[in-house]
Amino acid sequence: MSHATDRPLERDWVTTPFLIGTPLVAFIGLGWYLTHVGFFWADFLLFVVMYMATGMSITAGYHRYFSHKTYEIHPVVKFLYLVFGATAVENSAISWSSDHRLHHRYVDSDKDPYDIMKGIFWAHMGWIFYKTWPVRTYDNAPDLKADRMVMWQHRWYLAITMGMSFGVPLVVSLFTGRPGGALLWGAVLRVVACHHGTFLINSAAHAWGFQPYSVRDTSRDNPFLAMFTFGEGYHNFHHTFQTDYRNGIRWYHWDPSKWLINTLRFLGLAWNLNRATDYAITRARMEMDETRVRRRLEAHSVEWRERLWARYGASRARLEGALLRVIALRRRYQAWVASVRAQVRPSRHPLARGWSRRLKRGRTAVALARVRYADRLREATRLPLPARENA
Ligand SMILES: [Zn+2]
Ligand SMILES: [Zn+2]
Repeated sequence: MSHATDRPLERDWVTTPFLIGTPLVAFIGLGWYLTHVGFFWADFLLFVVMYMATGMSITAGYHRYFSHKTYEIHPVVKFLYLVFGATAVENSAISWSSDHRLHHRYVDSDKDPYDIMKGIFWAHMGWIFYKTWPVRTYDNAPDLKADRMVMWQHRWYLAITMGMSFGVPLVVSLFTGRPGGALLWGAVLRVVACHHGTFLINSAAHAWGFQPYSVRDTSRDNPFLAMFTFGEGYHNFHHTFQTDYRNGIRWYHWDPSKWLINTLRFLGLAWNLNRATDYAITRARMEMDETRVRRRLEAHSVEWRERLWARYGASRARLEGALLRVIALRRRYQAWVASVRAQVRPSRHPLARGWSRRLKRGRTAVALARVRYADRLREATRLPLPARENA
């Protein structure tokens, strides 16, 4: 069977000069423009709007919708994702998604298109300098192959890309009177920013950051990266729970793609948003904690080790139990809602108050168990190491 390494790499003479040329034109061109013509807020605003539209069509569209199908959307949103996604100049949706599905399936191996094991530069952009081999057949994207709108974009990709990248700034320049500035800000610099934002997830988010959920692969959570990648920096979470529409799961995590999807849901344009359960997420974290605890306890005497381990284990069992009880309770509550809905609004039912009390009690139990668990974890991992006897 043919293998990726059986064939010498063949340089792609379209992408290579493009990837090297665009940053050069952006920086030299903009440098010249700023010193000779000047800075105009309208040009900058065009950059910001185009950057957000194309960037989030990649993160919320190409990535979280087309590649992972973490939620469902109205055809109008799909159309906008496809048109603005093409404008990011990162290939068609089916091609991007097929590569990305390979990345998740074969992460950190030779079949991963942006394999970090080949070095940071390769994962960042080096891989795009070469023609893909074996040639992509999109066999891992039958759902996208069957989608007529996706195939329409694939077929007309180049026309859409060129039309939008040049067209939008040129139309705007009819009002500003500065086609050069509009093209430099709205097309060239914007493409460079989009490219390297995406590339950083394949390079930096596989090299620098934390691994709170799994060490199965090199993916990292990096809140700093999330700041300028529309939330994609929480990459360890994403690799562990790839069918979750969120990447940053806490309210204070910077994840504008998640906020966009939530807004679309609010407007009735997105639905069936998929989330990993609290239980699954907490379990993943606990498994990672356990490794840390075990390593740390080795430094203690047998007696202490057993004592701390027992205390930690008990708090863990309590939290797991509380989470499972809430899940079971919610399931029973939903069944009850379904059974009474036909006769009366569930919130008006005489049993509604009882249910809400029980659900609240369950949530409180989880919150208390979380505090206890965090305490015991701190105790087991942070307790000062005892002075070695007979040292
Ligand atoms: Zn992904
Ligand atoms: Zn990744």
